Amino acid sequence: MIEIQNLHKYFDVHHVLKGIDLTVEKGEVLSIIGSSGSGKSTLLYCINGLEAIQQGEVIVDGVSVHDKGADLNRIRQNLGMVFQQWNSFPHLTALENVALAPRIVKKLSKAESLAIAEQQLKHVGLADKLDAYPSSLSGGQQQRLAISRALAMEPEYMLFDEATSALDPELVGEVLETMRMLAEEGMTMICVTHEMGFARDVSDRVAYFHDGVMEEIGTPDQIFGTPVSQHTQKFLANVR
Ligand code: ADP
Ligand code: MG
Repeated sequence: MIEIQNLHKYFDVHHVLKGIDLTVEKGEVLSIIGSSGSGKSTLLYCINGLEAIQQGEVIVDGVSVHDKGADLNRIRQNLGMVFQQWNSFPHLTALENVALAPRIVKKLSKAESLAIAEQQLKHVGLADKLDAYPSSLSGGQQQRLAISRALAMEPEYMLFDEATSALDPELVGEVLETMRMLAEEGMTMICVTHEMGFARDVSDRVAYFHDGVMEEIGTPDQIFGTPVSQHTQKFLANVR
């Protein structure tokens, strides 16, 4: 499980996370919503140790991520991350892209890593794109490739940072469907998203962030049906 305790993050004097307390249990799907600049991406980067923190603690499976002795490579193997923009290697095929981290980070044999890559590409519906280069894929296919790259490390957790925000509207659905499939398979997921339909239908809980504060967290029914915070109410009124 992921435990975040009184997390404070500053960029210089800019206080961007102001005492976040949050626990995500195994198998849970949490969606994080909130306006731009509220600290959602920064929280994800603090969880996998890409950002230093100034106060508090992030504990993943009992290991304190920001401890000096923490093995960040090992922690990150367990935290698959998918960003807004695809980040695949253009000179490698889809299969080679997905096989890369198992080969290099997990030090699997070429045959083993290619077998995992093939399996993961099939899993996200790209069985017919094994030998395709990223540039020949649609944006939705590229995002599914990014998801399969993360899955190839067999992470316990998946962190999505607006995985569909850069896509043309007609390509959003296939990526959300892939995320929904992972949720149904029991993957533990934290999804920063602007897709309110996804947040409502797929999440176990939804958290609303405002100006570095987690103002409200609850079931989708609570957050979308009876939001307590005025900021949440205003945000939802504007995105609907
Ligand atoms: P969100 O993902 O909710 O849009 P971010 O986590 O990206 O918000 O940003 C939160 C705040 O931190 C914003 O005010 C942003 O400008 C600031 N910020 C984010 N990254 C950096 C950085 N590397 N250096 C300085 N300020 C940053
Ligand atoms: Mg962001």
